[in-house]
Amino acid sequence: KMSLDQYTSIVTGGAVGLGKSMASALAEMGSNIVIVDLNRNHAEATAQELRSQYGVQVDVIEANVCSADDVLRVREETVRSFGRIDVLINNAGIVKNAKAEDMLYQDWLDVMNVNLNGVFLMSQTIGKEMIRQGKGSIINISSMSGIIVNTPQCQIAYNVSKAGVISLTKTLAAEWAPYGIRVNTIAPGYMKTELTEKFFREGGQLIDRWMSMTPMGRPGMPDELQGIAVYLASEASSYTTGGVFSVDGGYTAW
Ligand code: NAD
Repeated sequence: KMSLDQYTSIVTGGAVGLGKSMASALAEMGSNIVIVDLNRNHAEATAQELRSQYGVQVDVIEANVCSADDVLRVREETVRSFGRIDVLINNAGIVKNAKAEDMLYQDWLDVMNVNLNGVFLMSQTIGKEMIRQGKGSIINISSMSGIIVNTPQCQIAYNVSKAGVISLTKTLAAEWAPYGIRVNTIAPGYMKTELTEKFFREGGQLIDRWMSMTPMGRPGMPDELQGIAVYLASEASSYTTGGVFSVDGGYTAW
């Protein structure tokens, strides 16, 4: 039931980091992959790596998840190349930190646009194809910051966008269950990627504090999202929808 043979999976922000790791896991289970990313160079390098490692077809579409035109093109090109879309992982995300009173409105809009509006736009556009097929699995990457407020970081836009992703997931799960579409969220804790690398490199009090608040006492590695991604993509999770799955070393458990 974990096999993804003959599947087509779209992974946004799949060029690097958590997206790359989840795309690799799906490819390893037999899925063809479409990497949707702003960064064509990194996406092409990842695509080449996955093709040679797993022998699946991997396409790259340079696109912005906040652009309605781009997202429509993603659906059209994917259907033209593969004939169907089984899995969508909405993983592209950005972070801009500032105290609530200092946050520039443009920064707020940028974060909301990628992290929440982009997830809606991709889900709606790709979801229409899944509705036509009568089948599909959408996996939205939220964060533990969508569940708890992670002080002393000042992340009002990020927190709100990631909390929104959880509600969006539950709403789509309820509305689209009759069409055979399952929609779930993964809420990672601190994972070592480009996005957080700066904090881990600088170390210091902030890292010590985070790690002391993580029962497992260490950050997660990108490959630690692979199992849950394969589970949610595959028929192994056929009765699972609207779920929020924490992968955070226990951070939100206490
Ligand atoms: P990352 O910065 O390493 O990679 C993000 C990728 O998304 C990049 O390839 C980037 O080019 C792409 N991207 C950004 N904006 C885009 C857009 N508008 N359209 C298309 N592609 C775009 O990030 P990461 O650490 O791998 O995080 C991936 C996801 O996981 C994000 O949604 C992030 O919020 C979430 N997350 C990360 C952590 C962590 O600790 N790293 C924890 C919880 C949640």
